[in-house]
Amino acid sequence: MRYKNLDQLFRQSAGRLSFSACPFLEARLLIQKAAGWKEADFFRNLDSVPPPGLANKLSVLIKKRQSGWPMAYILGRKEFWSLEFRVNRQVLIPRPETELVVEEVLSLPLPEKPRIVDVGTGCGNIAIALARELPRARVVASDLSARALSLAARNAGNIRLRNVVFVRSDLLSYFIEKRQKFEVIVSNPPYISEADWEKLERPVRDFEPRTALLAGPTGLEIIQRLVSQSWFCLKAGGFLVFEFGAGQEKEIRKLFKPGWSKPRVRSDYSGLPRVMTVQKLA
Ligand code: GLN
Repeated sequence: MRYKNLDQLFRQSAGRLSFSACPFLEARLLIQKAAGWKEADFFRNLDSVPPPGLANKLSVLIKKRQSGWPMAYILGRKEFWSLEFRVNRQVLIPRPETELVVEEVLSLPLPEKPRIVDVGTGCGNIAIALARELPRARVVASDLSARALSLAARNAGNIRLRNVVFVRSDLLSYFIEKRQKFEVIVSNPPYISEADWEKLERPVRDFEPRTALLAGPTGLEIIQRLVSQSWFCLKAGGFLVFEFGAGQEKEIRKLFKPGWSKPRVRSDYSGLPRVMTVQKLA
């Protein structure tokens, strides 16, 4: 089919995306992706005949979207903390509520040049947001997945950050072995239980990496290991800050033995307890 102008292709595409909550936004973003355009290019071209090949390229992207692919994976990027991150199916798509983890770390009384480690960094969102806000901090971004780490390193490069390094580690094992200690350990660890995994919405379950979400039969397995390992990697007075799932607060509180402070819990914008901060007492 030939299109009179881009606007016609745009409207037709939005029609094909009508199952989504924002078909016109998605249609524009997919056109920009297919054409290699910025937003301004899209609006400038609305009255022109679409470039040759655009309609076919776009159709492939729309079919992907129709089959359930999340927009972030089709576009290859997602915004977090007002920064742009490249994402792919090796990493979780950063969630807005995870910005609360960053806010929480920024609210802590920290030394001038804190050492911070982000455990399970994925695309690097938490580590990079912190490195950007705290230019004097030394941030280590770690992950078990080498492919996640290389993506995170690319993201840090795109933002031109020099105060973040990348280390492959199974939770904190590498740092325990090297006897490295930090003022802050931060993490958005996998915390979904096997039963809840089955109930996740399809786009999450079908497209996002299982290892980034699923902790084990109870959902608390990784947090348990994170808490016990953290004791060995925190300086006296250091903080552990992490995200957790709905209904887990009570069980998680029990993991902290004497020597840890009373946990502080912050709720997300839907009122669910979401981020816990605990201090290793001096
Ligand atoms: N740190 C990343 C995020 O917060 C990835 C977390 C994960 O894979 N569990 O989105």
